Amino acid sequence: MSDTFERETLGFQTEVKQLLQLMIRSLYSNKEIFLRELISNASDAADKLRFEALASPELLEDDPDLRINITFNAKDKTLAVADNGIGMSRDELIANLGTIARSGTAEFLEKMSGDEKHDASLIGQFGVGFYSAFIVADKVEVETRRAGLTADQGVRWTSAGEGEFTVESAEIENRGTTVTLHLKDSETEFLESFRLESLIRKYSDHIGFSVLLKNAEEDKEEAKTVNSATALWTRSRSDISDDEYKEFYKYLSHDFVDPLGWSHNRVEGKREYVSLLFIPGTAPFDLWNREAPKGLKLYVQRVFIMDDAENFLPLYLRFIKGVVDSADLPLNVSREILQHSPHLDAMRSALTRRALDMLRGMAKDSADNYAKFWQECGQTLKEGVVEDQENRDKLMSLLRFTTTHSESDKQDQSLQDYLSRAVDGQDKIYYLLSDSLATAKSSPHLEQLQAKGLEVLLLHDRIDPWMVDHFGEFEGKSFQDVGRGQLALPEGDGEMTQEAMNDENKPLLKKIKRILKDRVEAVNVSQRLVDSPACVVTTEQDLTPQLRRMLEASGQQLPESKPILEINIEHPLVTRLSAETNDKRFGDLSNIVLDHALLAEGAQLENPADYVQRMNRYLLDIEAG
Ligand code: ADP
Repeated sequence: MSDTFERETLGFQTEVKQLLQLMIRSLYSNKEIFLRELISNASDAADKLRFEALASPELLEDDPDLRINITFNAKDKTLAVADNGIGMSRDELIANLGTIARSGTAEFLEKMSGDEKHDASLIGQFGVGFYSAFIVADKVEVETRRAGLTADQGVRWTSAGEGEFTVESAEIENRGTTVTLHLKDSETEFLESFRLESLIRKYSDHIGFSVLLKNAEEDKEEAKTVNSATALWTRSRSDISDDEYKEFYKYLSHDFVDPLGWSHNRVEGKREYVSLLFIPGTAPFDLWNREAPKGLKLYVQRVFIMDDAENFLPLYLRFIKGVVDSADLPLNVSREILQHSPHLDAMRSALTRRALDMLRGMAKDSADNYAKFWQECGQTLKEGVVEDQENRDKLMSLLRFTTTHSESDKQDQSLQDYLSRAVDGQDKIYYLLSDSLATAKSSPHLEQLQAKGLEVLLLHDRIDPWMVDHFGEFEGKSFQDVGRGQLALPEGDGEMTQEAMNDENKPLLKKIKRILKDRVEAVNVSQRLVDSPACVVTTEQDLTPQLRRMLEASGQQLPESKPILEINIEHPLVTRLSAETNDKRFGDLSNIVLDHALLAEGAQLENPADYVQRMNRYLLDIEAG
């Protein structure tokens, strides 16, 4: 049955239109990458056919030698990239080259600013693709026939990259896809054999298929094989240059920013596999979309099996790109089989270790690169502290923080750095949780610690309240939340205990507690404060206020809990409170002291109008005497 159809003109999805304009504008200085993208797609198509042919060998027809042919014609100003891979049906063609199926694309495009440099780096996170052809071409033609369909079921797609494309039936003899670029007048450099040859070698030397180049005007000339056609990861490490690794990463990830590091390993013995893992230079745009495809590219004995094989690395390492090529897994391995494979667990923990070692090596040898990495993807390692008990120590030493010692707002201090500055007798690592760095930096909770020269980690990322619950110990030191419970600081000479100080001020504490009984659990004399009159702290058993606020914002009902109010007995405002004989003023001032302590900690007052009234009343009252 033949299912030819009329020529149809269709509109690109809005996102495609935006992406096209953006690419042309912001990637012009990197324009030659279009060739890498087309070669990458062609090689993927060959990989996919080889995989499908494992179950259906007839798909290979009488043409089993998978390869990529690149032809240029200076007279017609055309450059064609042809593969004999899987090809596309009409519906696949319309879906693949008319829409962008990735979720989050619209939000991604909204972030574009119009500034070339900024946008170019964002596109790096998104991954450029087929549409980059329009950087150099004013018309692109795709002719394709899916493996298994007949010649008259071929399809031709044409577009000038301006909002619409046409599709029509076409008689296509050869299986696979040919992408023909009608180059803009300014792009004749891509019609020079020497230039093309060096570009193609750069972009394809590491893929496992031959790439041939031919000048269409020279009838007699044989197509010339340009690349070495050996998959990069199968070669020995010592034969591969840094540039080759970088190119391979870009080919794999569609990124055009260099990776920050890589780790290439061959495992032999009980299990045999090769892995090549990369740390990207920019976080992928959908890093925070937990549904987005992620994982390694899986090969079995050099045959491509699947993209985004998620099971080889834990979710918190989802920023890692790479390849794993197993000698033991069956060629017909599916995602389901993979999940239950006895090989998987061992490979997963070995690859996780490798990835963490690679990060550790980078932190040690190239602090600048590690800082870049931390800024882009560091937050995901915090998920690891929560999720991966086994590697917790390694992960903790990879964390970076802003501390009271930091000179900038950057998260640039490690726990090792922190401990190297610990004071004599300090057996704790102190941290403060807060909703923002600004609130943290001016928190009253820090005062006494800073006066004693004790450094505090300032934690203000969304995941931090969860992470701290999994901190355990680090190098034998436990962690102490400076906003919670009793604060045990290294004892100074002649300092009094909390109990003794409370005892000394019992009448005042009792009087305040009576006023604030519905709002606080207890009132204590504080050992944390120097400059502020009061602060609120959480009991050991309670949720931190940050976690409580987040859970409440997500709609959870939580049992009511009251903070402890701590007062600075030496502060003039507290002295005034203590000397206050007018009950009404005492009541107002006690409430105001608590309100201010809550505000300083980033909380919202339950009843702001009450506060304002109290404050006004109090101010007028003291003025009146
Ligand atoms: P990506 O390759 O990142 O998925 P592209 O925009 O480059 O994005 O391509 C979109 C899709 O079009 C590909 O995922 C693939 O399904 C299809 N495609 C592109 N080029 C080819 C080709 N030469 N052969 C078969 N399918 C292709």
